[in-house]
Amino acid sequence: MIRDIAVIGAGVGGLAVATLLARAGHRVTVLERFAEPKPVGSGLMLQPTGLAALGRLGVRDEITALGARITRLHGVTDRGATVLDLHYGDLSPGLHAVAAHRAALHGVLWRAFIGSGARIEAGRQVTAIDQRGDRVVLRDAGGAPVIEADIAIDASGARSAFRAMVEPRVPRRFAYGAVWASVPDPGIAPGVLLQRHIAARVMLGWMPVGRAAEGGPPLAALFWSIKPGEHAAWAARFDTWRDEASALWPPIAPVLAGLPGPEVFTPASYIQFTARRPWRGRVVLLGDAAHATSPQLGQGANSALLDALALADALAADAEPEAAFARYAATRRRHVRFYQRASALITPFFQGDSRAMPLLRDHVFHRMKIVPWLAREQVRTLAGLKTGLLTHDDAATLAGLR
Ligand SMILES: Cc1cc2nc3c(=O)[nH]c(=O)nc-3n(C[C@H](O)[C@H](O)[C@H](O)COP(=O)(O)OP(=O)(O)OC[C@H]3O[C@@H](n4cnc5c(N)ncnc54)[C@H](O)[C@@H]3O)c2cc1C
Repeated sequence: MIRDIAVIGAGVGGLAVATLLARAGHRVTVLERFAEPKPVGSGLMLQPTGLAALGRLGVRDEITALGARITRLHGVTDRGATVLDLHYGDLSPGLHAVAAHRAALHGVLWRAFIGSGARIEAGRQVTAIDQRGDRVVLRDAGGAPVIEADIAIDASGARSAFRAMVEPRVPRRFAYGAVWASVPDPGIAPGVLLQRHIAARVMLGWMPVGRAAEGGPPLAALFWSIKPGEHAAWAARFDTWRDEASALWPPIAPVLAGLPGPEVFTPASYIQFTARRPWRGRVVLLGDAAHATSPQLGQGANSALLDALALADALAADAEPEAAFARYAATRRRHVRFYQRASALITPFFQGDSRAMPLLRDHVFHRMKIVPWLAREQVRTLAGLKTGLLTHDDAATLAGLR
């Protein structure tokens, strides 16, 4: 059955689901608040799950060519103790992630979207959704109807203004966020997502992300934990911070010396929200709108892509929207729940004011590798393959390929 479908947001999940649904023959319109759809932020990790999803979209090779292959996560304290040293290849030979610049991922998804036949209305901030019988009406800031459709997919991200009409719980804020920047990568840690820690108060991260566009220079994502509200104070002492960060990981000193100032960094804050039932009537939540958390486990974009596939598959299987939404929610439930809980649990060990939690982290996390089963479970968690404490799936299954 061909439907009129409105998608709010041209981010990772919105572009992916619009592409899949337009390819299936639906009349799809994406409404994006920015006049020029653009990615916000620096880089992100595409786990084996996200790569399988991009494979189904037909763009895996394109993003792999632009991004940087990541085979290892290596975390070390200021005293030189290993916090985590996880190798994807320990789970299965050749397994890896791809770290990508956000502009690279956006460009790849955008090209697929443009070829799909879906439409976009840019510069359209949706402010309200009215449900009228079997139809939804989306309104803009002036209150004027922008579009009428059979269903609305809310892919407007972590700060969704519409999730409250689906589930009226208030998201919880994390104590720490971060500042992020894209910086030139002189090749100081190829293949490694690297983190340096002082307790859980300080975290420096370095992730090679490849190129933002074909022919561009190699870049890395650089991140530093700060509390929301402390951005101005951090920016005011930028030169002192440069020295502190260089002392924590000396190879980064020349990169930091070459940065003009704090303006190249973007502040980010994180919230925790998990919809128990991600739809109501004709409105369905997808991606961060349905489940937002901190990026400590690097799963958000991957989950948004898996959501897009599951929703498109469910709409192909069920003629009735609510039955399709229930099918979509059931397909994604265990995976989403595991990562939402794991992320909420693990974040304070890496970003927080507790003294006990980082101490426990430094004594336990790396030693867990002594037990081969636990070592594999740690890598499985990172790779996005867990569906419960004792259960997992492979990436192809999670992406609906079998
Ligand atoms: C600092 C940081 C680092 C991260 N690192 C990783 C990582 O390594 N790996 C990973 O998988 N994930 C990571 N994430 C999470 C990841 O970015 C998100 O999970 C992912 O972008 C969610 O996709 P989405 O489509 O749900 O929302 P988004 O990609 O945020 O897209 C939402 C879109 O909706 C638009 N929009 C919002 N409101 C409206 C409105 N009212 N009307 C019209 N348009 C609207 C926005 O402009 C935007 O284009 C990170 C996040 C942050 C903040």
